[in-house]
Amino acid sequence: MALHKVKAAKDVEGVEDAVDLFAGPVGSRVLPNKKIPEGHARPEAVYEVIRQELLLDGNAAQNLATFCTTWSEDQVRRLMAECLGKNLIDKDEYPQTAEIEARCVAMLADLWNAPGGHAAMGCSTTGSSEAAMLGGLALKWRWRDRRKAEGKPYDRPNLVCGPVQICWEKFARYFDVELRQVPLEPGATGLRPHQLERYVDENTIGVVAILGVTFTCDYEPVKAISDELGRIQATTGLDIPIHVDAASGGFIAPFLHPHLAWDFRVERVASINSSGHKYGMAPLGVGWVVWREPELLPKDLIFDVDYLGGSMPTFALNFSRPGGEVVAQYYLFLRLGRQGYREVQEACAASAQYLAEQIAAMGPFKLLYDGKGALPAVSYTLEDPAGAGFSLYDLTEQLRMRGWQVPSYPLPADRQDTVIQRIMIRHGIGRDQIALLVADIRRSLDRLTTATVSDAERTGFHH
Ligand SMILES: *Cc1c(COP(=O)(O)O)cnc(C)c1O
Repeated sequence: MALHKVKAAKDVEGVEDAVDLFAGPVGSRVLPNKKIPEGHARPEAVYEVIRQELLLDGNAAQNLATFCTTWSEDQVRRLMAECLGKNLIDKDEYPQTAEIEARCVAMLADLWNAPGGHAAMGCSTTGSSEAAMLGGLALKWRWRDRRKAEGKPYDRPNLVCGPVQICWEKFARYFDVELRQVPLEPGATGLRPHQLERYVDENTIGVVAILGVTFTCDYEPVKAISDELGRIQATTGLDIPIHVDAASGGFIAPFLHPHLAWDFRVERVASINSSGHKYGMAPLGVGWVVWREPELLPKDLIFDVDYLGGSMPTFALNFSRPGGEVVAQYYLFLRLGRQGYREVQEACAASAQYLAEQIAAMGPFKLLYDGKGALPAVSYTLEDPAGAGFSLYDLTEQLRMRGWQVPSYPLPADRQDTVIQRIMIRHGIGRDQIALLVADIRRSLDRLTTATVSDAERTGFHH
């Protein structure tokens, strides 16, 4: 204690004597922002001032833009804290965490109807982005091996997809693959099978089908896409595999749409990725990728790490990663069970459909997705953007005054003139919250469409 006092007095003058942390050396100054300070400071003081700064962030619970988990049970928080020091890559040092990861992969392979069940190959990742890279790499390697074996050129691979999330654009650029993004047809919410013919060729490493299009929340028709690729194979001989980007749908469809064939029941589906930290309900930092069978993951993409005196195959872009998210995912599988996942997702879907009805009834909006048949979400646009007297961006701003984060953004390629709003309903967002949001949307519309409102009032400088 005495020693501590001497050091403290030397490094940060007055640290021990402040009567209150806001009168002390940390709380009464602007925080360092360019250089690491020379001296140390009291943990409770630093904690408090950083916590205060973070209040400037949006409130995650009111972030209706995100698919990601913003609510967790206390037990999840405790397991996360208990796993703080565990490195997922150290399979030898933390064999039980490695075992838990393997159990999760087996459970997901089973959930997604892999033919060999738990014999399927897969791993955890930091999210769907890394999982997509791995899925894409396996497609590229298999295509290249085949082309080499056939003595054909293998320098111009392409990947065909609809309105994909940015991770696929990254994959294409980082790994030198041409991304052939099929434009959205008017009225369509994703890739349509009949469009494929014009985009695939002998250099196509695969087609990405999205279960839960980021922009519109709808599913792309995996089975029909597969049937179309079957037809193309029959006429051209091209055997093109599908990777399903089920970032959000991978934890929705098995529970809400169990009869929809989108997964390994569709033979052409070679691999699937999903975000554990989206509708998997795990905290941020975990995704999954699973291959139909181990043979679909080329051997030279696999590295071995030490494990219980032997070695364990790994395939990942990262080395060190936290173990807690994977453990939390396993907790959620056991804690909720299939029934629990079903009930949570059903409650979310019911709230989304309620919200869709309310929004449709307000007048100025045209629903693009009503929360039925795919993700628990709603997307809509203005019925008459030119005549509405306000833009969706104005509505975003109004709602933000109450803390709601409801983004407005243009649709992707070829439909960019259409601006839409999207509201995600997920675990932790209750019906009451949605009812309050509806009341705030109504109030905002009143404000935006009342002719007497001055510009100053519109931008929020009243009261
Ligand atoms: C969110 C999302 C991703 C990226 O997933 P992360 O887990 O955030 O890396 C990829 N594809 C789709 C369809 C998504 O919704």
